[in-house]
Amino acid sequence: MARRRRGVLMVTLVGALAGLAFLTAGQPGAVDWRRLRAVALHSDDWGLAGFVPSVDAWVGLDRAALSPGRFPDVYWNSTLEDSACVARLAAVLAGGRGRDGRPAVLQPNYVVSALDWTGGQWVRRDLPDFPETYRRPGLWQAMAEAMWAGVWYPEYHAAWHYDPQRRRQAVAAGGVALAAAERGVMLFPGSEAARELGPWRPTSELAAELDAGLAVFTAAFGRGPGSIIAPDYTWDGRCEDLWESRGLTVIQAKREQRHPGLPPGAGGRVLKVLDRQWSRARHRGRIYLERNCRLEPAQAPDAGAVVAACLDQTRRAWRCGEPAIVETHRVNFAHGDAAVAAAGREALAVYLAGLAGLGETGPVFLVDAEIASLVRRGTSLVEAGDVLVARNGTRSRRLAIPVAPAGPPKGTVALYLLEGGFQGLVAAGRSR
Ligand SMILES: [Zn+2]
Repeated sequence: MARRRRGVLMVTLVGALAGLAFLTAGQPGAVDWRRLRAVALHSDDWGLAGFVPSVDAWVGLDRAALSPGRFPDVYWNSTLEDSACVARLAAVLAGGRGRDGRPAVLQPNYVVSALDWTGGQWVRRDLPDFPETYRRPGLWQAMAEAMWAGVWYPEYHAAWHYDPQRRRQAVAAGGVALAAAERGVMLFPGSEAARELGPWRPTSELAAELDAGLAVFTAAFGRGPGSIIAPDYTWDGRCEDLWESRGLTVIQAKREQRHPGLPPGAGGRVLKVLDRQWSRARHRGRIYLERNCRLEPAQAPDAGAVVAACLDQTRRAWRCGEPAIVETHRVNFAHGDAAVAAAGREALAVYLAGLAGLGETGPVFLVDAEIASLVRRGTSLVEAGDVLVARNGTRSRRLAIPVAPAGPPKGTVALYLLEGGFQGLVAAGRSR
């Protein structure tokens, strides 16, 4: 009897340990992230023609009647970046050096298309084209300069950032929705809930939208994306399958995912954790990158406290053996109120300077494509201007291949032999 009880106890214990292992399992990896001390800067909403072309768009418009839904106050005057915004931010990033001598690099996640209500009808605008009310001379040149300098590494965020059908319907009803569209205001009644990847949208429609979006992205930036973040953190399993079928296997912010199908409250939260761990266990080919640090000064009264907390979170991430992945939205750097953008740049500069004080060795700045390649192969090679930034996160000599964006490799693939721990540059032989 006692033996049988012991047996039951053992089975229960093994089951509990297996359950614990399942619930706490992270990504396997070839790299010691404690030693690498990596920082990635995730920034959503670049290229979004919204919320307003400028603060003047609100003059004479009944904001309350528009009732778009709830979002942080600062977003009312969120606007499309301009060339000066990008150039100033690029200068801040260039001033933040990693211990490998490379500058800080921002990963702007782009919205690639916009609806433009002009002449009484909708016109589709694809990057680098924008609605007439959002024309920003020199923007694409400034963006290309920042890419070439290695401080700007675009990735994919959204096609529109909302369900385009819902916007069309809202504006067709006329009234305040039409008045907003005429002024270039992207908001419409219920727009906050009109999520681009909402569960009501047919999979075939989402597939066509993704294909069009990827084509726009590739034409605009000269390469396909290697990482994706869903708009409003809202997506379901269909979307991940679609992304993977198009070669997009690096998924940002899984922990923030809003499941339309899950119940509210504690039950929903438990199911969310189970679903996340199940996704990780079931889809070994996908890499989920969690945002574990937050730098959103535009949403807080005390930017200094936000920076201090973000530095703490960075230290904690490294201690836990994770890359520090910082969430910092465009609204902090591009805004109708120039003071908001200036404060955002200042907060970023203070954060970058503060990283040097977190340990005896400084950080290295990585993008998702590098993190994913380091996790998978222990090495990474990504383009930055006319060079390839090469890294070997292991202690042994390893072969590296350039990080391939979504889709099969084209032409010949070069191989590089990197010494253990190597971080530096190899010639890419690319010209402008
Ligand atoms: Zn967004």
